[in-house]
This record gives sequence, structure tokens and C-alpha cells, in this order.
Amino acid sequence: MKILRLILGDQLDQNHSWFNEVDENVTYLMAEMRQETDYVKHHIQKITAFFLAMRSFSKELSEKGHNFSYYKISDGSNLQDLEKIIHKNIEITGAEKFEYQLPDEYRLDVQLSSICEELKIETATVDTEHFYTTRYELKNFFAGKKQLIMENFYRMMRKKHDIMIVGGQPEGGKWNFDHSNRKKWKGTPGIPKELGFGQDVHKVVDEINKADIVSFGEIDTRKFNWPTSRKECKETLHYFCEKLLVHFGDYQDALHTEEKFLFHSRLSFAMNAKIISPKEVINTVLDYYYENKSDIDISQIEGFIRQILGWREYMRGIYWKEMPEYAQLNSLENKNPLPDFFWTGETKMNCLKHSIGQSLEEAYAHHIQRLMVIGNYALLTQIDPDEVDKWYLGVYIDAIQWVEITNTRGMSQFADGGIVATKPYVSSANYINKMGNYCSNCEYSHTKKIGENACPFNALYWNFLEEKKEHFKANNRMAMMMNLLHKKDKEELNKLKERAHDIIAHPDKY
Ligand code: FAD
Ligand code: SF4
Repeated sequence: MKILRLILGDQLDQNHSWFNEVDENVTYLMAEMRQETDYVKHHIQKITAFFLAMRSFSKELSEKGHNFSYYKISDGSNLQDLEKIIHKNIEITGAEKFEYQLPDEYRLDVQLSSICEELKIETATVDTEHFYTTRYELKNFFAGKKQLIMENFYRMMRKKHDIMIVGGQPEGGKWNFDHSNRKKWKGTPGIPKELGFGQDVHKVVDEINKADIVSFGEIDTRKFNWPTSRKECKETLHYFCEKLLVHFGDYQDALHTEEKFLFHSRLSFAMNAKIISPKEVINTVLDYYYENKSDIDISQIEGFIRQILGWREYMRGIYWKEMPEYAQLNSLENKNPLPDFFWTGETKMNCLKHSIGQSLEEAYAHHIQRLMVIGNYALLTQIDPDEVDKWYLGVYIDAIQWVEITNTRGMSQFADGGIVATKPYVSSANYINKMGNYCSNCEYSHTKKIGENACPFNALYWNFLEEKKEHFKANNRMAMMMNLLHKKDKEELNKLKERAHDIIAHPDKY
């Protein structure tokens, strides 16, 4: 029987069981499509990385003997639309059956189901075999529970998959070493230089530009550093184990003007495109840890495993539990527009200048830049979560909706009313100053609350708590913050609010 199998741009797993055997009756269909480049405005490095990774995947598997029907963005015969491309390829190949791997994005899941309803041939879906969990495992795990606490899910995952468990108990005596993961980086220990691949990508970028795809952000077309082939992704993983893991946990939350990547793995694109699986990452990192246990503290490895086995799988489960309603949630009723400086990085606020500037230069910011600098500002200035989501979905190389929206709308913007986070991640300048050196090089003073050079985050913070207090009345975890708010001198609070309103009305002035 002739079979046509679709592979989406984030399904680049060469170890998928589909490829165990070469079958001449099977054709694999892949297409670089306008429907995928245009659903939001993307960073140029993100589009480039996906096209490179897709091309590398189809090339390597074609070399092993698999049949591929591949459409580059520039191919004249590319119909640019998923439905049309599927129909055309069923006709060309004479396929009697159409198969696809379950998509991780809701929009594609709906689209493919509806395409299949109209097809006259047999259709079937298979799992991507990528995640530890199935789509609805988290939903079932939390069935009947009021709160979906990540820590509970994480512990279940550790036990279920026997990861860092000794005699039924967590290795090292604790489940979570988060409290050891909060050091400020002050110039030491030395950070190994970035592992870059220096690829010449100008041809792909030319094709993207010729196709008139609207993108933003910077790219060095002669020196593209992201890993996009299977070999490069594996090298990135090994580099992380050998050079970065030893300090990963300690400086996980650190911020620094001169160090964009610190000890972060930068494996998110490789994993989200499924070039490398979370199991492969975790097993490799654990093997390395057990071989070098005397040199690596348990807090470093636990901190890393928690992000992948815990947060990554948790976010995916929340996505499938809550979509499609999740994409509309705006529990705090935030409505302000995104300031222009999100597209330029031009602001006097040093933390935002660096974090947004770096996002535009590298299509990357690490977790605390995304959460406690950019996300914190967006929430404190009460920006519409739709706008915040679009920006995050476009700017980061690893942004795919299942993991972007749960982190942005949920964890960062509290727009889901507390499904992901038990309280909003907001802070004044205090936290940003505690975790890095942005404040010591800023035009604003992190200690001042009022006056021309007072840090905008300070006024914004108190204004946010005051304006949104009704939403937090019943939230125990906000009780301390609310208590401090009630004790605040009314005159001072009014001045803070006045300044906050000016910042919100004229964000690009600050
Ligand atoms: P490392 O710090 O080295 O961490 C290792 C891995 O852990 C990451 O590669 C990632 O796969 C996983 N991980 C860590 N934190 C999370 C998390 N909160 N949720 C899911 N996985 C996690 N991650 C994405 O992959 N895509 C996104 O679009 C995305 N958007 C985000 C938006 C906001 C507002 C926030 C606060 C976080 C977002 N994250 C997203 C999570 C996290 O910031 C990135 O996974 C991480 O910065 C990627 O860099 P890294 O590979 O160097 O990560
Ligand atoms: Fe950011 Fe305020 Fe610190 Fe400046 S002083 S870097 S604006 S937190």
C-alpha cells in the first residue's frame, strides 16, 4: 500500500519508529510554508533555524534511502498551504493512506483533523514519541484537584521514570534544590565561550527575503551559531555536560550585562524541533553526572532535570488540558499596547535594554530575563496578553505555542488567573538588582521610588498591586504583599501611582 506521511517543521526526530525501516511505498512530505512563516511575525533567526533544520533532516534521511517530497520556500511548485500540498502529493504519489504525527500545536491539530475528514483515503495518526508524557497524562494526573502544582507533578515524574531516586526517595535527600539555584554571577567562575557553529546561511536568508516573508531581528548570515543538524545538537548537549553543567544550577537565575548565555544549555530549539529528545538529554546529562559525581554538586543536576522533566512536560500537559480557551484568558483585564521599544531595545531602562536588545540580536534570552525583566515589565504596565504572547511567540528561536503561551500568558502574565503560577511573578527593582549588575550601570536608581531618576519598576510595582488588589483578595500567597500595600503611606502611594501612570502612558519616554 502506498502511504504518504507528513512531517511538520517541529517533528524532526530521526529516531522516530517511522524510520526504523526503509519502505519504498512510503513518501515523507515536508514543506516550508507561508502559513507557518506568517501566522505571527517571526525573528529572522527563528525562520532560518527551522528551514535549516528541516533541510538537514530530510537530507540525512534521504541519504539513508527514505523517499522525501520536500518543498523549499522558494520552489515554484510550492503551494504554501498545508491542505493543498497534501492533496497534491496524494495525487502525485498515488497514496492510499495518509498518516501524520500528532501535532503539538492546537491550531495544526484542528487543521489536520479537518483536512483528514475531507480526504477520500484512509488516514491515521501516530504519537511523536518525543515527550515523557502523553497529551492528556497531566490532565488525568490532576483530575479532581483544585490546584495544578508543578512540584507534585515533578515528583510523580521522578518516581515514575526512576530519575534520581534511591530506595524510593529523592537522591540527595531533597526533591528540589531551588534555593541553591539563586546566585548572582560576579565575574567568577569563568564562563566558557559560546559554542557556535559559524554557519554561512546567506542563501537561506536570501530565499526568505525573496519570498517577501516579513520578519524582524538581527542575523549574521556568515556566522549563524544555533545548532540545527542532529550532529550539532548532540555537540551542544555534550558541550553543556562538559563545560556548563558544573555551574548550571548555581547561576540559573543570574543576570549580567556582559554575559548573554551564562551557564544555560541553549538546547531549547534542538528539543522543541525534536531533533533531540528530552530522554536523550536527561540520560546523557545523568550519565555524565554519575561519571563525574565528585566534581558536580547535586543541586546543579537537579536544577536542570527539573526544568525538562518537570516544567517542560508540565507546560505541555497544561496546554492540552486548557486549550483552546487558554489562548483567550486575560484574568487581570490588561489592555495596554506593547511599547515600541520592544521592537528596538531602545530604552533607558538598562535591564530591558539588555534583555530585549539581546532577544533581538540572538533570538534568545534566558528564563529570568524572559520572566523577571521583560515579563515583569509587561505585567506591571498591564499590557494586553495577546500582544505579549505575539511578541514572545515571534522573537524566540524556541517559541512554539504549547510552551510559549503557557509560560507567557500563564507563568509570566498571570492571565490564566493562577492555573500555572500560584501568584504573579512581579517585583520592584530590588529583585533585578539582587540577581545581577543591570542596576549598577543604569540611568535610574534602583533604590529610589519617586523623582526623575527613580527606577520605573518601583512605581509600577506598587501601582500594579493597588490597581489589581481586588483580584488578589482571596490569594493567600499575596497576603504579605497586600499587607505591605495597606500599610503604605497614602500620599506616597499617590505619588507612586502618578509616576506609574506617566510611565504607562509614555513608555518610550523612559
Ligand atoms: P536552560 O536554562 O538551559 O534550561 C534547560 C531546558 O529546560 C530548556 O532548554 C527548556 O527545554 C527547559 N525549560 C526550562 N524552563 C522551562 C519552562 N519554564 N518551560 C518549559 N521548559 C523549560 N521555553 C521554550 O522552549 N519556548 C518558549 O517559547 C518559551 N517561552 C517562554 C516565555 C516566558 C515568558 C518565560 C518566562 C519562559 C519561556 N520559556 C520558553 C522557558 C525558558 O525560558 C526557556 O526554555 C529557556 O530560556 C531556553 O533556554 P535554554 O535552552 O538555554 O534553557
Ligand atoms: Fe532596571 Fe530599574 Fe535596575 Fe535600571 S534601576 S536596571 S530600570 S531595575
